[in-house]
Amino acid sequence: MLLASAGCRVTIVEARDRVGGRTRRIEANAGGRRFAFDCGPTFFMMPYVLEEIFASTGRRLADYAELTRLDPMYRLLLGRDGGRPPLTIDTTQDLSRMAAQLAAIEPSDGPAFLRFIADNRRKLGLMTPILRSPIRSVTDLLTWDGMRVAPTLQPWRSLYDLLASYFRNEQIRLALAFQSKYLGMSPFECPSLFSILPFIEYEYGIWHPRGGCNALTQAMARACVELGVSIRCNAAVDRLLFDGRRCVGIGKADEEERFDHVVLNADATWALKHLIPERLRGGWTDRRIDSQRYSCSTFMMYLGVRGHVALPHHTIYTSASYRENIDDIAIHGRMSEDPSVYVCNPSPIDPTLAPEGDSSLYVLVPTPNTSTPRGGGPPIDWTTAAPTLRERAYRQLEGIFGIDDIRKRVLSETLLTPADWRSERINHGATFNLAHTLPQMLHRRPHHRLQGFDGLWLVGGGTHPGSGLPVIFLSAQITASLLCKEAGVGTDSR
Ligand SMILES: Cc1cc2nc3c(=O)[nH]c(=O)nc-3n(C[C@H](O)[C@H](O)[C@H](O)COP(=O)(O)OP(=O)(O)OC[C@H]3O[C@@H](n4cnc5c(N)ncnc54)[C@H](O)[C@@H]3O)c2cc1C
Repeated sequence: MLLASAGCRVTIVEARDRVGGRTRRIEANAGGRRFAFDCGPTFFMMPYVLEEIFASTGRRLADYAELTRLDPMYRLLLGRDGGRPPLTIDTTQDLSRMAAQLAAIEPSDGPAFLRFIADNRRKLGLMTPILRSPIRSVTDLLTWDGMRVAPTLQPWRSLYDLLASYFRNEQIRLALAFQSKYLGMSPFECPSLFSILPFIEYEYGIWHPRGGCNALTQAMARACVELGVSIRCNAAVDRLLFDGRRCVGIGKADEEERFDHVVLNADATWALKHLIPERLRGGWTDRRIDSQRYSCSTFMMYLGVRGHVALPHHTIYTSASYRENIDDIAIHGRMSEDPSVYVCNPSPIDPTLAPEGDSSLYVLVPTPNTSTPRGGGPPIDWTTAAPTLRERAYRQLEGIFGIDDIRKRVLSETLLTPADWRSERINHGATFNLAHTLPQMLHRRPHHRLQGFDGLWLVGGGTHPGSGLPVIFLSAQITASLLCKEAGVGTDSR
């Protein structure tokens, strides 16, 4: 959208049969009853970034997508040991109501919540210039903005340790720490600067686009076509063409096509490894790519269900053995007995996703990715593991989520395992991309203008700022503005 509206002639070459990537639509037909689901994202945050993108092409997002703000934002079921039922918290943007809810659990944690929000408002304000800029080297960080933010970021601290300095109650800490899972990371390892994630929820809200988040990528495709972009689906690129170090086009089987610039939106490390010969890649050798840390993966169940389901729009259960569950995922590479599970139940407010009176239920279980576990041993074999995890997920839906007759009511079931994500050209099936550890952030991620090449650009979760819809849109703004500047084409993307 940004490149086309700036005057570039743009062709999108998409491997799958539809646009959207991880943000695509999944459909199921159960004897004529049609269900639809988001494949990946269901939480839409910071809509103003996408609004900016539409606005810079002379459009209004509101004319292309219908957004509903959710209140409560989501229900938390925080598992507790000793066989006690989970602690329930319905999160809300009404900060005084939220603080009162937390104070009822632990008196000092109510005021601590308000302090946490105020501190992170300041932190995000300081970080915003960094999130909106290309960071190519330490020099880019040694600006006034970078210097000002450094003491606030406390890079040596984990997110969990930072939260422990505010909150006394363990469950309340987890209520503000689980968001590290948006990056596919453990809160015990995730850098404390990501305390902006829970803050962003409470500050800007969580939104449901009618039809699901996939309606946003479809809306963007519509806007692209209006702007003259040609979109070709079922067209997997299998190599890039080079003249010296200049990327001059793409190759698909025996077809080659030349372009002045190529922007890679594929999973960055997968694309580096599979589309560019290693001898040209400079620092990004296979060895370096393989030795990077990657996010977790997910096991997905998309269920077409008969009748209504009495659950809020978003419900997140955190395992009663949360630390063990996180270590199973991040270190040992195994499935937990009591896995954390997230369920999205959009049908009550969105009749477009299921037949009248029925429900489309989205179930996500965080899992290890498909690489060799850090703790040793082989990665999980998903052909044998999938039925076990499916069984555990149903057990959680019955026992924890209280849908005790779920199995009888399922009309359609579509599963996606980490091995399936990997076969979608996602390196190690790591659904949230390269981990956002300090050695893999900022200038240490692959750059928007890929280092060592001309005419070759990156956009999406593999580059700066990282994974998640709002930030991949920020990366699009950065890449488009750098490319247009270099190509001498006018842009209004910022
Ligand atoms: C299960 C799940 C839940 C998530 N939940 C949320 C959420 O609630 N909120 C949120 O903000 N984010 C969420 N995310 C993260 C978000 O989906 C990603 O950050 C984002 O979609 C990544 O976008 P991308 O453009 O980098 O990659 P992708 O969406 O993967 O797009 C890459 C595109 O490139 C195509 N491609 C790849 N290789 C080739 C090739 N060789 N030739 C042609 N085309 C190719 C792919 O088919 C795909 O269409 C979730 C992700 C997952 C998987």
